[in-house]
Amino acid sequence: MKITVCGTGYVGLVTGVCLADIGHEVVCFDTDEQKINMLNEGLCPIYEPGLEELLLKQLLANRLHFSTDAKQSYKESEVIFLAVGTPQKEDGAADLTFIEQAVETIAQHINSHTIIVTKSTVPIGTNDRLQAMFDGKGVSVHVVSNPEFLREGSGIYDTFHGDRIVIGSNHKEAKEKVEKIFQPLQIPIVHMSLKSAEMVKYASFLATKISFINEIAKLCEYTGANVEDVALGMGMDSRIGTPFLKAGIGFGGSCFPKDTKALENVASLYGYEFQILQSVIKVNEKQKSLLFDKAMNRMGTVEGKTVAVLGLSFKPNTDDIRDAPSIPLMDDLIEAGAHVRAYDPVAHNHVKRIYQNTIHYSETIENAIDQADLVCIVTEWGEIKDFPLHKYKQMMREPLLIDGRNCYKLEEAKQADITYISIGREVVERKTPIFRY
Ligand code: NAD
Repeated sequence: MKITVCGTGYVGLVTGVCLADIGHEVVCFDTDEQKINMLNEGLCPIYEPGLEELLLKQLLANRLHFSTDAKQSYKESEVIFLAVGTPQKEDGAADLTFIEQAVETIAQHINSHTIIVTKSTVPIGTNDRLQAMFDGKGVSVHVVSNPEFLREGSGIYDTFHGDRIVIGSNHKEAKEKVEKIFQPLQIPIVHMSLKSAEMVKYASFLATKISFINEIAKLCEYTGANVEDVALGMGMDSRIGTPFLKAGIGFGGSCFPKDTKALENVASLYGYEFQILQSVIKVNEKQKSLLFDKAMNRMGTVEGKTVAVLGLSFKPNTDDIRDAPSIPLMDDLIEAGAHVRAYDPVAHNHVKRIYQNTIHYSETIENAIDQADLVCIVTEWGEIKDFPLHKYKQMMREPLLIDGRNCYKLEEAKQADITYISIGREVVERKTPIFRY
């Protein structure tokens, strides 16, 4: 099928490349010329495991094209996927400017009977509005909702092995055509109305699980229980399950923070007070200062101290720093007068745009922790999780490690003889004083 994907970000690019891989003829359109130039050279503008290889394969197979030319991209397309950003506005609502701009452009160039599939996360009722926009312009299309559930860092895997594909539409031919696109993936397909499909994306419950376990972690710290053991015991109950029961410094990234706020905003527009969701958001806001608070409780001040921040992206295996917990932490540390050394395997460039020369960018974990007074683990990249604990003792001025992701077992920290402060677990105190002259 001839498909155009509008927007080549984390969702659009993965979608375009994967649709080409299952045999469709795909054009990826974006207004960002620099991105499209890179993509045409076979270079991937984002870090997503396996994406660049698959992109090159599809470019060579001539099934995948990139363009900034709207007319060329849209005029022969049978189905157009909308995958532009829907960031958060100041009042928490989703900003639909990019979607509306895309619709304006699409309406100018398409044939009648094109199907418009919305992958972008949009508030309930948006797709009806988009349909009305096309109708108002006298362009005959069918708008279908197809919310996206991929996780950054495993986007390709998730596209090929998703748990379900949701198709929201009341139009028989439109939904059959969209179903046909995905058939080669052999993933269960669920049909529903436009509004229900929009709601499925927002209602997915994972942020609630994260804030809940973070509250349990807090109580574990007060009572002396161990949150890792508690989460294991809870998660083995098949009604609960282990995923997203990992206590830490809260959720970040391009979805959960803005989507929870957008859902709260939808509720408030209907005059409904969504109390659980409000608590989920509030708990997560508090988590942002957790590592800094723990550092201040322990050290009294960080002024003049060298602090290594390990992991900058909002989670491992991505370069995305949108709403990453590393940012408020570094803001607090800088404001309190600390010298920050930041390390991440792939996200340095994005962070440099924010902090420029205010912080030091370390090339390796060793460079970051050498003679540091404090190390904060923010993102559990494999190499950070696997970094040998004894090196903190060897290399730091004082081996004080605050681990926002519970990367190590308490027993390991005891054996390494470091001070180890984690989330929802007892503090491990270093036994041997270190005197450095
Ligand atoms: P992104 O910011 O990475 O990419 C958006 C792209 O759209 C950019 O390349 C931008 O240049 C392009 N764009 C903007 N206006 C355009 C226009 N008028 N025409 C063509 N291109 C245009 O965004 P993303 O992370 O890929 O997210 C896209 C949507 O998918 C959002 O609604 C998001 O909430 C949702 N979503 C994201 C994820 C994720 O993990 N990132 C997962 C599920 C759903």
